[in-house]
Amino acid sequence: MISSKLPDIGTTIFTVMSKLALDHNAINLSQGYPGFDTYLYLKDLVDEYMQQGYNQYAPMSGVPQLKRRIASKVLNIHDVEFDPEEEVTVVSGATEAIYAAVTATVRQGDEVIILEPAYDSYAPAVRLNGGIPVYVPLNIPDFSVDWQKVRDAITVKTRLIMVNTPHNPCGYVWTQEDLNQLAEITRDREIYFVSDEVYEHIVFDGRKHLPLLSHPELREKTFSCGSFGKTFHITGWKIGYCLAPRPLSIEFRKIHQFLTFSTSTPMQYALAEFLEDPSRYLFLNQFYQDKRDLFCEGLEQTPFKFTPSQGSFFQVVSYAHLSNEGDFDLAIRMTKEIGVASIPVSVFYHDKKDHKLLRFCFAKEDDVLEQALEKLQKFTF
Ligand code: PMP
Ligand code: GLN
Repeated sequence: MISSKLPDIGTTIFTVMSKLALDHNAINLSQGYPGFDTYLYLKDLVDEYMQQGYNQYAPMSGVPQLKRRIASKVLNIHDVEFDPEEEVTVVSGATEAIYAAVTATVRQGDEVIILEPAYDSYAPAVRLNGGIPVYVPLNIPDFSVDWQKVRDAITVKTRLIMVNTPHNPCGYVWTQEDLNQLAEITRDREIYFVSDEVYEHIVFDGRKHLPLLSHPELREKTFSCGSFGKTFHITGWKIGYCLAPRPLSIEFRKIHQFLTFSTSTPMQYALAEFLEDPSRYLFLNQFYQDKRDLFCEGLEQTPFKFTPSQGSFFQVVSYAHLSNEGDFDLAIRMTKEIGVASIPVSVFYHDKKDHKLLRFCFAKEDDVLEQALEKLQKFTF
């Protein structure tokens, strides 16, 4: 028998709930992916590049045109400069970026601070590299960061802090004060940051996404991880990127070249061309805000309690005032009984702490959201 390196880990909740939704013909608001197709023009571009023969290995760190476009996107939006050749790496999804950044920094026995609830790939990446996850809970109910708790969790062994803004599953968006606090408590220490910002273009109510790289001190120690999956409705293409200062990028690429080596060539060329026009991603804030508003207005007619999400395409609701049922059981029961699948938030805690919260993905067509809301409005505990 193979001795498992992750004996406690099973199939991810996203796979489990999506399958359950399929089996019960339920509306799938569980796994986070857009329920609509990407742009015809982007698909045509991929086709064009394939037909032109761009079908062999891309350069290891990415197609130069695409790296330049990613660097100019960051320069235009955040006024921060990155050298496209040396400091931008194209990878096969943010999941790879996160894994490669963790692998580049974490050694046996290093401690890594993970703010919970946390995206499910962080802790396994840390553990597989011999690191020790140190879990710090976010504040309930707004999921802001308790900076005293983070400060208390830092030891001489702390090597890395995992950051996620806008936050999956809770939608919290970091403020300038959050960035300043992080800089202050890590000053003069060799602590790095993996900043998962895959929802960078999905923030609401006039908020601005503040990447860690926009803070001059944090920038020097940050691996900034992004994904085109969320931005262009192409989660199935698995293309992401990592921006990091040169010394960090050098180490990052050493891992990337032996994980996947390089990423799909025609898609990189197509994305480089598609990125020419910033309006293609800058409209997303409003696009998803409208969906959040539609979903939240419908939720008002349900017994759930919630605070509208600040960013990402997820809305968390609480039923703590209604029932003691476990969130996992409830998510399964709702899928079977009323045909709406969600994600129980306890899965994002290492100890499966159950705050009686469910996560819904509202990246769906409006009529699908309306149908789901109708079902949720009829649900009784
Ligand atoms: N981080 C977060 C917070 C996510 O929600 C996701 C997936 N939705 C990822 C990383 C993974 O992104 P990718 O599909 O590009 O690997
Ligand atoms: N990031 C997506 C979510 O949070 C799922 C990605 C996956 O299935 N691995 O739902």
